[in-house]
Amino acid sequence: VVHVEKLVKQYGDTIVLNELDLKVNKSEVVVLLGPSGSGKSTLLRCINLLDQSDAGSVHIAGQWMGLQHDGRHMNPSEIALQRSRVGVGMVFQQFNLFAHLTVLENVAGPLRWVYGMEKKQSYARAMELLQRVDLADKADALPRHLSGGQQQRVAIARALAPSPSLLLLDEPTSALDPELVHEVLSVIRKLSIDDKLTMIISTHQLKFAREIADRVIFLSGGKIIESGPAEEILTTPKHPLTQRFLNIMT
Ligand code: ATP
Ligand code: MG
Repeated sequence: VVHVEKLVKQYGDTIVLNELDLKVNKSEVVVLLGPSGSGKSTLLRCINLLDQSDAGSVHIAGQWMGLQHDGRHMNPSEIALQRSRVGVGMVFQQFNLFAHLTVLENVAGPLRWVYGMEKKQSYARAMELLQRVDLADKADALPRHLSGGQQQRVAIARALAPSPSLLLLDEPTSALDPELVHEVLSVIRKLSIDDKLTMIISTHQLKFAREIADRVIFLSGGKIIESGPAEEILTTPKHPLTQRFLNIMT
C-alpha cells in the first residue's frame, strides 16, 4: 500500500530523513521506534503531506503523494483533496480536535468540507464511527468535556470516517494518563484485527509495539537502522543503537 523511496527532509542544515526507504503491505501494522529526534514524526508528516519532503517520493495505493508535477506548491485544499484521493488519515499525539465543535461535528464536519458529503449522510457516517469507538453517547459533548482517552478515540473516529486505506498514528497515547492508555490501544488493536487496516504507528510503548506490530522499525538519524518482526527486534536486536535504545527504554 505504501511505498516510500529515498525520502529526504532537511530543516536548514539538519538532515532529518536521510534517503529513507520503506514499504508497507496491505493490512500490515508497522511500528516506528527510535529516540527523540530520530525523525518518526517527520516521516509520518511527509507521508501525509503535512511536511514537504526535499527529495524522494511517496506512493500510497499506487498513487503519487506529492507536489503537482510542475513543482508548484499545493494549497491546503489541494492537499486535502489528494489525501482523500489516496485515502490517508492521521491521528496526532495532542488529538487536534476542533475545540468549539461537538464530538459529532468533529467527525461529520470534514466529511462535508473535504468530501462534499450531504449533512444527513455525514451525521449517519459519524454516528457509525462514534459507535465503533464506543462514544455514541458523547456525540453532543464538546471535546473539553471528555477525558483524554475519549478525545483520542474521537480523533480516531474522525480519521476513519472517510474510510482511509492507510492510517498514520503519531504517538497516539503519549499525551494520556496511564489509566487511559488502555482504551485507546484496544481501539487501535480492534482496527487491526477486525478491519485489517494498514497502519504506521510511532510509539514509545514497547509492550504495545510487541502486541500489535507485524513489523517494528528502529529509526535513528533519519535512517532505518533495523527492521523485522516485533519479537525479533525487541528481544534480540542486532544493531548496537537498537540495543542501547531498548536498554534505556526497559
Ligand atoms: P520524538 O520522539 O521526540 O517525537 P521524532 O522521532 O518524532 O521525535 P521529529 O519530530 O521527526 O523526531 O524530529 C526530527 C528532527 O527534526 C529533530 O531534530 C527536530 O528538531 C527537527 N525538526 C522537526 N520539525 C522541525 C521544524 N519544523 N523546524 C526545524 N526542525 C525541525
Ligand atoms: Mg515525534
